[in-house]
Amino acid sequence: MRWNLTSDRVPQAWFNIAPHLPEPLQPPLHPGTREPIGPDDLTPLFPMALIGQEMSAEPWIDIPGEVMDILRLWRPTPLVRARRLEEALDTPARIYYKDESVSPAGSHKPNTAVPQAFYNKAEGIGRLTTETGAGQWGSALSFASALFGLECKVYMVRASYQQKPYRRVMMETWGGSVEPSPVDDPDQPGSLGSAISDAVRDAVSRDDSHYSLGSVLNHVLLHQTVIGLEAKEQLALAGEERPDIVIACCGGGSNLGGLAFPFVPDADVELLAVEPSSCPTLTEGRFEYDFGDTAGLTPLLAMYTLGHDFIPPSIHAGGLRYHGVSPIISNLVKAGRMRVVAYPQGKVFDAAVQFARTQGTIPAPETSHAIRATIDEALRAKEEGVERVILFGYSGHGLLDLSAYDDYLHGRLIE
Ligand SMILES: *Cc1c(COP(=O)(O)O)cnc(C)c1O
Repeated sequence: MRWNLTSDRVPQAWFNIAPHLPEPLQPPLHPGTREPIGPDDLTPLFPMALIGQEMSAEPWIDIPGEVMDILRLWRPTPLVRARRLEEALDTPARIYYKDESVSPAGSHKPNTAVPQAFYNKAEGIGRLTTETGAGQWGSALSFASALFGLECKVYMVRASYQQKPYRRVMMETWGGSVEPSPVDDPDQPGSLGSAISDAVRDAVSRDDSHYSLGSVLNHVLLHQTVIGLEAKEQLALAGEERPDIVIACCGGGSNLGGLAFPFVPDADVELLAVEPSSCPTLTEGRFEYDFGDTAGLTPLLAMYTLGHDFIPPSIHAGGLRYHGVSPIISNLVKAGRMRVVAYPQGKVFDAAVQFARTQGTIPAPETSHAIRATIDEALRAKEEGVERVILFGYSGHGLLDLSAYDDYLHGRLIE
């Protein structure tokens, strides 16, 4: 029921989706001039290696040995067949999930935090700044920074800073320093967009510092493709030719892209993005150029967006509360290569609890969006009487999200 690869099977190159896209990507625009940006516009924020990856058209990009060695602390991650969930649903579908919850930070996010820290260190940077919502990205970058001896400054959305102390403690344990955002207005609960503004302002004000983003950008999704590359190999070991459908939750799009991109060239494989109906970027947003942050400091990206001043309600799946989404994911959705579905959080927690009571592990609220869609696909296969192979992304565990489960279990969940 579980397919493990030996540590020499960690992928040696990342899969670049760019040459496989239905249409070319629209270039990011300068926030001031609205002209396409060049590499020089990005050097105050990112190392050259990452800027190169952001714009690369090479089909494969080698993973540095030092990065592979660190990924081996937890990779390859297991592929698991959810046999007990299948039995509970009485479905002919075969359900597999790729378990990214086994990383030190408990999610897929270290897959990009480690190479980002590596390339910054290699180009002489001593300090990274970033934003974090519920704390998953801040903890991943604090972990990676610790391994490379970098300072890490995390601007944490104030509402989470006050309500969720444990992720802050994780960050501090790895040596990160955490400040609530927005820094200039202590009465504001904050948002991811405003925390990005704080982190970018900090990075450009100091020569020793760069900024680091945990999702959305092309190079971040590139680093996450280790997930799908391993899963492909593991599905073959499980005796499956290919999945019929690949499902993942989508906030900025990194765990979805990481799992799904290696399957894009296989035209028969359906791809499904799952988002919360309270932050419906792909299902109800507009495709247009928009800023990545609230203050309008970042380049303009061509993406589905709810508007950079959209403040999402404080649902428990903090990692899915973002006004925009990856330009690559937007491209695939717009071209009809990827489908989208949105769920309200009550139905998401129904699925999370069903999963925990059959498979045992407690998924992150973000991950539970993918589980909801997986269960619905499996029930549809049962109705139609067809065997379907479903692969979904288990992006993280929910052991630091128990207050959300507490609210659900005791009737306090707000839709
Ligand atoms: C951050 C996070 C997400 C959402 O981010 P994406 O970039 O959309 O993948 C999903 N699941 C978990 C567990 C996360 O920590």
